[in-house]
Amino acid sequence: MSVLAQEQSLEERIQAAREQVCSLHAELTRYGLVVWTGGNVSARVPGAELMVIKPSGVLYDELRPENMILCTLEGEVVPGTPGSERSPSSDTAAHAYVYRHLPEVGGVVHTHSTYATAWAARGEEIPCVITAMADEFGGPIPVGPFAIIGDDSIGRGIVSTLRGHRSRAVLMRGHGPFTIGATAKDAVKAAVMLEDVARTVHLAAQSGQLQPLDPLAVDALYARYQNVYGQSGDDRREPPAPITPTEGSTDVPRGTAN
Ligand SMILES: [Zn+2]
Repeated sequence: MSVLAQEQSLEERIQAAREQVCSLHAELTRYGLVVWTGGNVSARVPGAELMVIKPSGVLYDELRPENMILCTLEGEVVPGTPGSERSPSSDTAAHAYVYRHLPEVGGVVHTHSTYATAWAARGEEIPCVITAMADEFGGPIPVGPFAIIGDDSIGRGIVSTLRGHRSRAVLMRGHGPFTIGATAKDAVKAAVMLEDVARTVHLAAQSGQLQPLDPLAVDALYARYQNVYGQSGDDRREPPAPITPTEGSTDVPRGTAN
């Protein structure tokens, strides 16, 4: 947890997550990653066994911090909290599974963005052929198994593909991308960058042979970008949030967290 988060009460951390998750959905529409009510962003509440996620089937223009939904890391809505009268995103179980099994993850994003989903439709990993991919993902974007909503199978597929992998993006076969990040903003950035490289590499493949980068160059680019590029305050430079929740941290104040 960041220094700021450590100074906040649980209620303040939940409210900050509500505001962040709500505002980050605007980035999905800004970058053309979603249509209608598709796509979803979630954030872990630092230091608690809780997450905040978008409601199911609500138009983007109607999203507000108070209609984001607070859930346990089992994907259950916390009753009596703002927004709890609605159902959470249909992908909640997948997000919750990721938080339970990848403690370093603070945010998860799912879209059906066009070019990334086209690669998923072919079940083909995106080869690392441009420096932007080496920088951001450290290699190819892997394909995860085909899985349908209804149980933990999407979450299992995401975790088994991304655990120990540099990539923060997975293309779920026949479905579309999920991205993870140290924070929800970091996961949204990965979703935006993924669609950008998916489009570029798709276009390149239409007119010639793709030329994968030398793995040594990929390693060097990735190391530089993760450690030197940008600002020292970037989300991924912060130490990962500890996952030892304080006792009673799921005991959410009812009706006071808006
Ligand atoms: Zn989907």
